[in-house]
This record gives sequence, C-alpha cells and structure tokens, in this order.
Amino acid sequence: MSERYARQELFYGIGKEGQKKLTGKKVAIIGCGALGCTSANLMVRSGVGCVKIIDRDFIEECNLQRQTLFDEDDISNNLPKAIAAKKKLQKINSNITIEATVAEINPSNIDSNLHDTDLIIDGTDNFETRFLINDYCVKNAIPWIYGACIGSIGITMSIIPGVTPCLRCALQDIPTFGSTETCDTAGILSPASGIIASIQAAEALKILTDNVAAVNRYLLKFDLWKNEITRLKIHNLREINICKTCKSNQFEYLKMGKYSATTTLCGRNAVQIVPVNGSNINLPMLASRLKPIGNVSFNKYMLRLETDKYVVTVFPDSRVIITGTNDLPTAKSIYAKYIGM
Ligand SMILES: [Zn+2]
Repeated sequence: MSERYARQELFYGIGKEGQKKLTGKKVAIIGCGALGCTSANLMVRSGVGCVKIIDRDFIEECNLQRQTLFDEDDISNNLPKAIAAKKKLQKINSNITIEATVAEINPSNIDSNLHDTDLIIDGTDNFETRFLINDYCVKNAIPWIYGACIGSIGITMSIIPGVTPCLRCALQDIPTFGSTETCDTAGILSPASGIIASIQAAEALKILTDNVAAVNRYLLKFDLWKNEITRLKIHNLREINICKTCKSNQFEYLKMGKYSATTTLCGRNAVQIVPVNGSNINLPMLASRLKPIGNVSFNKYMLRLETDKYVVTVFPDSRVIITGTNDLPTAKSIYAKYIGM
C-alpha cells in the first residue's frame, strides 16, 4: 500500500476509514480561478476519488498572481482553465479520476454536470451562479461550500441541505448589480483566496468523511489586511427566515427565465454571450471566415480573433467572450457581426 496518504490517515479525524471513504467520493469544483485552483489542488492531493473541474474561461496573465495551477506555458498554448487544471492535477495524483468541463453552469446543463457528485465547492465569481448552485443543491440534498474573496477579505459558509441554513437563508436575494465590489474595482490579495479555499477544502474533507459534527456552522469572514476575523452566528436562520429555497422549495434559479445569457465578467473588461439555442461551432471553418477581419488563432478548445479594439474568444459550444468592452449592446453587436446567427 502506498504511503501517499500516510500523514492524513494519522490524523484522528480521518484515519484509514476516512481515507477509504474519500476514495469513493466525487467532488465538483465550479469555477477554477483563485479559489478553485487551491481547493482543487487540496482535494486531489487528499485523494478524493473523482474531482471534476468546471470552468467557462481561458487563462490571462493577470490570473497568475493567485491561480496556482496555471503557468506561462498554459497562456501561450491558449488553454481553457479547466483543461490546464486537469493536466496539472493529473500529474499530482494519477491514482484518481479528474474530469474537466469547459462550460458555464446554467439551468439547462447543471443536472447533467452535477447529478453524480457528493459535494460541490464554490469557486465562482458571481451570485447568479451561486444561487443556481444553492437551488440545485437544496433540491437534490447535495452539500456545498460557499466561498468568495475580494481585496483582503474572504467569506465562507458550509451548506448541508436540511441541516444548516442555505445561502438564501443568509442572503435572501442576489445583491443588486453594482452593490458588490469586484476584483476589478478592489483587486484581490492572493493569500485571502488561499485561506478561504483552504477552509472550503477542510469543510469538504469533514463532510466527505462523515464528520458532520465538525462542520463550521458560522458565516466566517476574514480580513487579512486588518487582521479581523468575524464569526457570524447563522445557525437559527433556517428557523427564523421564510427561505424561498429551503422552506417553500421554490427553486427559482433552476428555471431558465431567471438566467441571463449575456453577462459582464467579474474583474474583466469583458462580456460573455451564451446563445439560447447554441449549437456546436466548427472552429476551423469559422477561423477561415474570420481571417480577413483580424488575427485568428485556434485549437480544439477555442478560437481567438484579435481586432484593433476587441478580443473575441469562441468556444465550440458557441459561447463567446468578448474582451474590450463592458457594454452588453456593444458586445451583442460584435457577436452578430463576427459570429452571426
Ligand atoms: Zn434556505
């Protein structure tokens, strides 16, 4: 038997028994940015049997400061984050299964992507996806670990449906656009994401090894710059709030109508467009059509068109990210002009 997990098995909370449980479990990490890179790394090293990485994005230079699974070669090779993460993670642990999906989780694909997972870790950068995950997890009784980071501040909370309050018990509704700062306005300190992702991973290990009594029942908030740690009591929110999700089972965010197909991306001068009836795009054909317009490069994961003002990244599922604007109508007209449909 290998020594790989010897130190983890020595730890009283896990033991050989707990380690065996981890081998049979599947964790999905949604969003492979700063939080997702760190929690994925820890899950893979801990020996969780299957780790699935879902991410919609490609890697940029400004990611390298905190997204610990990526390097300069990944950028040169135009790799989507999920693919680059899988390559790195499989080298770290070849005994487990690692799945990579390049997609944005939305109401129409969430079930096919997550139905067989035992736990979900939040690595997203937006509340729309978090509320969707919350609805899905409460409906299907899947535990998930919320995490968010901005500047030197990080927040996390563990959600076990039916046992602890859900995200909606705590927040009720998505914070209105503009009321929350983004990485774009406040920046982000990499140790802040490191601490939150580490807590998320520890919480995952507790739940996956059936140590539910050890699970964090607070909303934890850290400010690493001001040396402040806050533990907000939330344990009674499930009882005192009339939560639409876990009290009256209205899973609003699982309905397509709530989902916005065109969104500005956190921390970026970029807009993402997801066609409602998107079909598979033939990237080589599109590349030859776009050649007269600007610089075109492509591989099997994505195509990139660079013009004077914009960078247009097209994924095979017809999802597009337009960098160089925050304006939705501008992005839509660029989409119509170059991609068509
Ligand atoms: Zn709730």
